[in-house]
Parts: sequence; C-alpha cells; structure tokens
Amino acid sequence: MINTDVLIIGAGPTGLFCVHQLGIIGLKCEVVDNLDKIGGQCIELYPDKPIYDIPAIPVCTGEELTNNLIEQIKPFKTNFHLSDRVEEIKKDKNSWFIKTSKGKEFKAPNIIIAGGVGSFEPRKFSVKECEKFEGKEILYSIKDKTIFKDKTVTIFGGGDSALDWAIELSNSSNIKLVHRRNEFRGAESSVNKVKELEKQGKIEILTQYQLSSVEGTSKINSLEIKHENGSIKKIETDYILGFFGLIMQLGPIINWRLNLDKKHIPVNTENFETNQKGIFAIGDICTYSGKLKLILSGFHEGALAARGCFKYARPDENLRFEFSTTSKSVHERLGVKK
Ligand SMILES: Cc1cc2nc3c(=O)[nH]c(=O)nc-3n(C[C@H](O)[C@H](O)[C@H](O)COP(=O)(O)OP(=O)(O)OC[C@H]3O[C@@H](n4cnc5c(N)ncnc54)[C@H](O)[C@@H]3O)c2cc1C
Repeated sequence: MINTDVLIIGAGPTGLFCVHQLGIIGLKCEVVDNLDKIGGQCIELYPDKPIYDIPAIPVCTGEELTNNLIEQIKPFKTNFHLSDRVEEIKKDKNSWFIKTSKGKEFKAPNIIIAGGVGSFEPRKFSVKECEKFEGKEILYSIKDKTIFKDKTVTIFGGGDSALDWAIELSNSSNIKLVHRRNEFRGAESSVNKVKELEKQGKIEILTQYQLSSVEGTSKINSLEIKHENGSIKKIETDYILGFFGLIMQLGPIINWRLNLDKKHIPVNTENFETNQKGIFAIGDICTYSGKLKLILSGFHEGALAARGCFKYARPDENLRFEFSTTSKSVHERLGVKK
C-alpha cells in the first residue's frame, strides 16, 4: 500500500502542473496514467503540432510543452505509474483506498481526477478470435521492435502509424500492409515511401481488404483477409499489428458515484471539488459554468484543487498564501540555491 497526500489520475498537462502546485505547498503525490508515456493528449495526439496559447510561451509543440512540465516538477521526484489504470476507489473514514488494474494500492485523503477525455484505448479488430492473441502476436502498439526481426508482420491501417511502422520495420521484417480503402490517409511523403518500398519488393500492399479470421492454437499461424468484392486471401504471418486510432472512454470513473454531466464531472469553482469530499476534478474532464477546454484553464484549476487538498492532508495546519518569488519554503522545496 502506497501512502500519499494526493493520488492524481492522469499525467496530461493538467495533472503535471498540478504536481507542481502540490509540491510547492509541501504535499506529496503519486500519478497514475493508463498510457505508457507522460503527456496525455499533447503527447498521444499531437506531439509535433504547435500550440500558440500557453501563457508566456509564444509557440511550442505538444512534446516540448510536456518536456517543460516534466522539467518543472523534477525537484519533487514524483512517482509515475504508467500503463496502469485506476479501477476502483473506496472511502474509509477520511481516506480513499485506490486500486489499479495492475493491482497497485494507494491510500490518500485526496484524489485529483485529471483524466481528460478518459482513458485512451486502441480501436481493436472486430474479429472475435483476435482477443485470444492480443498482447502476444496481435498488437496495437509497439514497445520492443526487435521481436519482429526476420518475421512476417501483417500491418493493418491506413494512417500515419500504420505507414510509419511499415516503413520502419521493412528494414528487417517481411511486411504486408493491409488497408480497407484504396487511398491511404497518412502523410504524402510516407505514402510515397511505402509505394517505393513496394516497388523494391520490401512491402506488399493489399488494399480494399479487411481481416476476416485468424488461425492458430497457442500461436497465430495465418490470417484471412476479405476483399470488397468478397474474395478471400490467406496470409501466413507471425505477427498482426492494428493501427486504427484511439478511442476515449470514461472507463471506470463512471462507477465512482460522482455526479456526471455528459461524460464530464461537475465541480465547484472555489476548489474544484466534486460531489464527493476529497475528490477533485480538473482539466478537460471537469465542467462548470463557463468552462474552457484549454490547457491554461487546467493549470488554474490544478492550482486551486491543490490548495483544496491541503485541508484534508494537513487538517491541523493553515496554508499561508505566498509568492514563489519570495517564499523561503517554496525555494527549499524547489531546491533553489541562493
Ligand atoms: C489536436 C489537438 C490540438 C489541441 N490544441 C490545443 C491548443 O492549441 N491549446 C490548448 O490549450 N489546448 C489544445 N488542445 C486541448 C488540450 O490538449 C487539452 O485541453 C488538454 O490535453 C487537457 O489536458 P488534461 O490533462 O486535462 O487531459 P489529457 O491531456 O486528456 O490527459 C488525461 C490523461 O488521463 C489518463 N486517464 C484517464 N482516465 C484514467 C484512469 N482511469 N486511469 C489512469 N489514467 C487515466 C489518460 O490516459 C490521459 O493520459 C488540443 C487538443 C487536440 C486533440
């Protein structure tokens, strides 16, 4: 059981800045995120796109913003529990008991939900037998590309992820690229590249096909794809990769007896507490009159929620308002050398 002052659900920009706001007032926190990396939408959906409305930063990409937020919270040495999802929460006296999908347990007087639009999950194949091979020979993301060396890999999808991985893996694997349409949606340069690799015999492109079945007992041996005209083609393969984008689901949050308003959590605007004492919601997931779904709003909400947590984490202390410029305790917590 990990004891902490605050458990933050979500390592998007809002959750990250909230770590800072908790840290400078002397509260400890742990962060859990369903994704395998820190940064939420900024890193998962638009790492290379420019953002123009972060105060005092005229322009930065999603990745640069994430890296700067991570840099800013370094002094607090926060633990991130990635590729893990908060599933269950229960209250006993003044503490919340939290369990994750990987079986981790936390005890904290406060939970801050910075879950954005919910947990991102890959859109999967609709063929039922696929479930049996998921995480083994059927994958929706790649953690270790070395497993594909000298293997036959069948990649499904028509967007940038499918094209980029087809190009990347074609150096060391036998690649088949299957797409349900004739045209690919990815960047023009990537489309041209896969076509060039097809001419060189490094990638086989099969369009207007969809997966219709997979075969194998303990391991996949082959798959069948069905053409729009009804014809079936069998492919011997070692791995199947599906890149159909992500779906966002509120997931287990729906079961936590929180008031919900169209997949959002209503909060008060004094400290962003929900209808449950000690549970706060900030960033894209919260709603209130006038809510703007922008990163800068999430930063403000996190600052006030952090102060809201203080009264439950340190019930016998008063929190003094201080400026970071002049506060000695803030400087100590940040390790500022004078
Ligand atoms: C293409 C695009 C461009 C954008 N451009 C701008 C812009 O220019 N300016 C701007 O201000 N905003 C922009 N936005 C919006 C901005 O990205 C969001 O407002 C911001 O990401 C919200 O941050 P967040 O931390 O609240 O949520 P998110 O970034 O969505 O992060 C939430 C995190 O919570 C995790 N999570 C959810 N549920 C659970 C659970 N049960 N357990 C564990 N983890 C969980 C998710 O995996 C996710 O990582 C843009 C968005 C998009 C898609």
